[in-house]
Amino acid sequence: MCGIVGYIGDKSAGGVILQGLKRLEYRGYDSCGIACINRGLVVKKDVGEIDEIEARLGLSRLEGSPGIGHTRWATHGGVTKENAHPHLDCSGEIAVVHNGIISNHEELRAKLEARGHSFASGTDTEVIPHLIEEYYDSSLEEAVRRALAEVEGTYAVLVISAREPDKIIAARRESPLVVGVGDGEMFVASDIFSFLRHTRRALPLDDGEYAVVTRDGVVVKDLASGEVRQKKEMVVEWSDEEARKEGYPHFMLKEIHEQPRTVASALKIYREDVRKLAEMIASAERVYLAGAGTSLHAAMVAEYWFSKLAGKVVIAIDSSELRNKGVLDEGTLVVGITQSGETYDTLAALRYAKQQGASTAAIVNVIGSTATRIVEHVLMQGSGIEIAVCATKTYTSQLTLLLRTAIELARLQEKEVEPLEEELRSLPAKLEKVLALEQEIRRVAEEQFDVSNYLFIGKGINYPTALEAALKLKEISYLHAEGMSSGLLKHGTISLIDENMHTVAFVPARGENRKRIVSNIQEVKAREGRIIAVASGSPVASDACLLVPECSEEFSPIVFAPVFQLLAYYVALKLGRNVDKPRALAKSVTVE
Ligand code: GLU
Repeated sequence: MCGIVGYIGDKSAGGVILQGLKRLEYRGYDSCGIACINRGLVVKKDVGEIDEIEARLGLSRLEGSPGIGHTRWATHGGVTKENAHPHLDCSGEIAVVHNGIISNHEELRAKLEARGHSFASGTDTEVIPHLIEEYYDSSLEEAVRRALAEVEGTYAVLVISAREPDKIIAARRESPLVVGVGDGEMFVASDIFSFLRHTRRALPLDDGEYAVVTRDGVVVKDLASGEVRQKKEMVVEWSDEEARKEGYPHFMLKEIHEQPRTVASALKIYREDVRKLAEMIASAERVYLAGAGTSLHAAMVAEYWFSKLAGKVVIAIDSSELRNKGVLDEGTLVVGITQSGETYDTLAALRYAKQQGASTAAIVNVIGSTATRIVEHVLMQGSGIEIAVCATKTYTSQLTLLLRTAIELARLQEKEVEPLEEELRSLPAKLEKVLALEQEIRRVAEEQFDVSNYLFIGKGINYPTALEAALKLKEISYLHAEGMSSGLLKHGTISLIDENMHTVAFVPARGENRKRIVSNIQEVKAREGRIIAVASGSPVASDACLLVPECSEEFSPIVFAPVFQLLAYYVALKLGRNVDKPRALAKSVTVE
């Protein structure tokens, strides 16, 4: 799980690659490095954040081309300078950057050592340059193919050699890789975003493919057979501007504030596309909504929508457990929910489901990503780039699309959906009103979040809201938080309530669940726990109450979301955390 960037062209590779790596830092950032060919091969790498390393080593001053760079999120081997990529062969002529995990690295390493290769790092990656060296006669391309034929596991790799300075060889198996097509210059990177300011023309590679990239073009071939594959170029519409902070101190805050717009975009996604997913769901015997982290919580909210609005049982499942728990056959539909379209566990779940004969679909934000290319039907979120590691706007947009799909399913069953449609249309304006509470939310974050343990409780459709709210707080503030259904509290966890454990409760505007959660709040009060309520419509008795506009219970998970996102943001800010790049986390988890 890292970022890789390659460049070949007339510019000095160091500067272009550094800029690209900075755009990829969300994928992992414990160390980084760049290798360029400038007569011979020159490498600079170290541990730390990109800016620090740049200040120390001047990566951007590396001249020549081609060049390859990497930001690392260590999987094998500690976070050390030696383990940072690029890795070289014994001759120092071949350089490799790699995203993924080589599962047979121990065996390959032993074999290569026995043949006299000496290793400089403790990574799995380093077997690749040595294997290439082993097969390198006159063609780098051929040597890379033969080397990769021996490698098991997952990879996106870029390879350059001082002996053939006119090309980069790029190959992928289960890790993302996209070629950027410029005019007399070419880019290869883990995502489109890292070369967007240079070109909008992109050519995503598929699994089992490799590309020979020269400054004037790219030829894509099949790794196994070596046959040329015809690929279609795509033109990316995202603007580079979308990636800037636009005056906000953090991307997370900017992205939270974008929600009225991103929800409106999700409302504009063609009805035909939404209906197609609804039809697939209608005709399947079994439906799994598979996701990880925030996407799993979106799937859990949707479980309620499908059963309550359309009488259809769908099962939300942690992608990494689908293989263990799912019943997968021709009657099954698996819908992967993945913002990046590259989440390893969700891609693995979709691939496994396909192997078992199941149908697949996906809800994805990043265009051209792997998930969009392996499923039968895709709903694109259209939320624009999300840069903060912590997902915010893409959560509410996933929810909006899932709610629309449930409504479409209800329509197929000839149920009355107009009141729901009307409430859908009012969502962006309601979110604006919620965001107007920012200063009040900030005050509550600063005054009420003064302990290290929190419980988040919700009832019914806001049970997953409680899970997602707890996750937001944990991810960026590093405080301990647990989310649960309020009904579960008395089955154990209530014994933890004391002055060091505050409770945040999500209270809908009306109905039975409002009454039930209000009585759960009383149970907490009776044990002298502090209560922070997030309530719709009218306030409830509590130590602090954040009041959001009235909405139906079905819509409340979307309306509550900016509140808990802003709470987490301001708590993290108060604690001086690195809000956009929390420790140990990467935006898109592309390893198992
Ligand atoms: N497995 C490689 C390493 O630990 C690459 C990890 C990554 O994808 O960042 O160095």
